[in-house]
Amino acid sequence: MNVNYIIVGQGISGTWLSYYLEKENKSFLVIDNHDPKAPSRLAAGIINPVTGRRHVETWMIDELLPNAWNVYTQLGKELGITGISQKNVVDFFPSPQMRLSFQQRVEESGPYVSMNEAGYTFSSFFNYEFGYGEITPVYTAHLETIIPTWRTYLKTKNLLLEEDFDLLSLNISDEKIEYKNITAQKIIFCDGIGCGNNPYFKNLPFCR
Ligand SMILES: Cc1cc2nc3c(=O)[nH]c(=O)nc-3n(C[C@H](O)[C@H](O)[C@H](O)COP(=O)(O)OP(=O)(O)OC[C@H]3O[C@@H](n4cnc5c(N)ncnc54)[C@H](O)[C@@H]3O)c2cc1C
Repeated sequence: MNVNYIIVGQGISGTWLSYYLEKENKSFLVIDNHDPKAPSRLAAGIINPVTGRRHVETWMIDELLPNAWNVYTQLGKELGITGISQKNVVDFFPSPQMRLSFQQRVEESGPYVSMNEAGYTFSSFFNYEFGYGEITPVYTAHLETIIPTWRTYLKTKNLLLEEDFDLLSLNISDEKIEYKNITAQKIIFCDGIGCGNNPYFKNLPFCR
């Protein structure tokens, strides 16, 4: 088998990469061991415009948020599933200090946070004597359906090899990449935290 790219891993990174390579008419084979504990199979898929206790805006969020909505919506459409939905976050303040900190963010005109003085009431469900704020819009990318549906698609097109990638079977020369009976021009690792054990990336400062 001869392909342009070997992709190792079909988490969310390998999924998007293979999706876009296909759009570019590039040939590829995805190799994935279907680890049920891989983060992409566990994650809630929340795309939150603010981060941390101080609700600081996420890096590049003004560009990322609309783009995420558009591309996940499109992917969902193509796969016949819901790719993304909006689920705003309600933040019940655990203390007057946290309320003050949130209020300061609102006053600094963070567009993604607001105080909800007289908004909805949750008092029949929760005790929240210090009130609450709201983060909006917050999106949920539906990885729980995107990843398996894309996997099924890859399988039907014979673009997925379900196995543990074996580094000892990899041969890299100036002209080509060889893995078992597969020849490729490039190999791209989308194997998540597994990259930390990959000798090709041993000089990168992975946190352990
Ligand atoms: C519990 C949890 C909740 C999270 N919630 C969120 C969230 O709400 N929002 C958010 O933005 N992020 C969240 N994250 C982080 C997010 O899930 C990860 O950053 C993201 O999924 C990483 O995707 P990935 O494709 O790079 O790697 P991974 O998800 O690790 O995918 C790697 C893939 O490679 C395969 N693989 C690995 N090694 C090999 C090998 N040797 N041979 C063959 N296949 C291999 C695995 O089976 C897997 O399919 C969460 C993470 C966790 C753990």
